[in-house]
Amino acid sequence: MFLSQNNILKSSITAVFVAAASLINLSAAETSNVRLPGQHLQQHDDLLANQGNTAIQLDQATKYLESLFMDEEEPEFDIYTEGWDSQMVNCYAGVAVPQTAPIDVSHYAMPHPGYITSPYGYRRRFRRMHKGVDLKVNVGDTIRAAFDGKVRLTKFERRGYGYYVVVRHTNDLETVYGHLSKFLVEPDQYVKAGDPIALGGNTGRSTGPHLHFETRYMGYAINPCAIFDFANQTTHTDIYTFDKNTYQKARNFSPQANAEYAAKYRSENPPKAYVPDPSSKKKGSSSSAAVYSVKKGDSLGKIASRNGTTVAKLCKLNGITTTTTLRIGQKLKLR
Ligand SMILES: [Zn+2]
Repeated sequence: MFLSQNNILKSSITAVFVAAASLINLSAAETSNVRLPGQHLQQHDDLLANQGNTAIQLDQATKYLESLFMDEEEPEFDIYTEGWDSQMVNCYAGVAVPQTAPIDVSHYAMPHPGYITSPYGYRRRFRRMHKGVDLKVNVGDTIRAAFDGKVRLTKFERRGYGYYVVVRHTNDLETVYGHLSKFLVEPDQYVKAGDPIALGGNTGRSTGPHLHFETRYMGYAINPCAIFDFANQTTHTDIYTFDKNTYQKARNFSPQANAEYAAKYRSENPPKAYVPDPSSKKKGSSSSAAVYSVKKGDSLGKIASRNGTTVAKLCKLNGITTTTTLRIGQKLKLR
């Protein structure tokens, strides 16, 4: 079901060549996506030229952020390093990660137009890294694939991400979307940048509706703000260069621009009365779809884990036992 390590390596190597080739053609890159005003772009270019990926005065930004943001309690559980199970969230263990890699992010979609409610980085309050950004969403908002790719996982994890989707992209990034209320895709499904993949929610370790969004390169969590400019709803550059030594410091985030964007977003999207979604219960007793159609390679265990339920519950609901042979296309009640 998943790429073998060899294949991952091969596809990475191919992608490096493809991305390197597109670097050469940077000036002639397609301009199909929304671009920033020239002056703003120039500022980014200057920053990049002067400071590389370790731009922006980190301490100042952190202090400012701590005064600005009310920290959402982050997932206490890193699905890549701790969530090890048969579905192998971190399928990159043991694979050699290149020192640097150019990643083509020119064909993108914003996962959601919401502003940042909590940035990437170390959180003193919880003594943990926050490995993504939190974006303002309402329960039921459409969440979109950031790049072209293939859905790798849809799962439930009650101690952190709630219902979450992992998409592996053709540019070698993976993106993670957490705290969802409903899946709109299934594992192994191909998606294009901008395709709806889920609805926003408040599942897992979350105190209010938001999208936890991560950008990973071979398991390494890159600051999504180093790639995306959320205040301007665009990417900073067409090519993001991953650097194994500095990826955790890579950032390109203006708290002020975010605050201005947040004010604009709030005025255009007045807060809705929050109606608790029946599918956003924290215990995982409910699921995104009431009926599941059995697919090739499914087992009761896989179906239960992907849909936030248990084998015992599935058996009871459907009048079957753990030894019942599943047919492809068989309908199973999930709740
Ligand atoms: Zn988060």
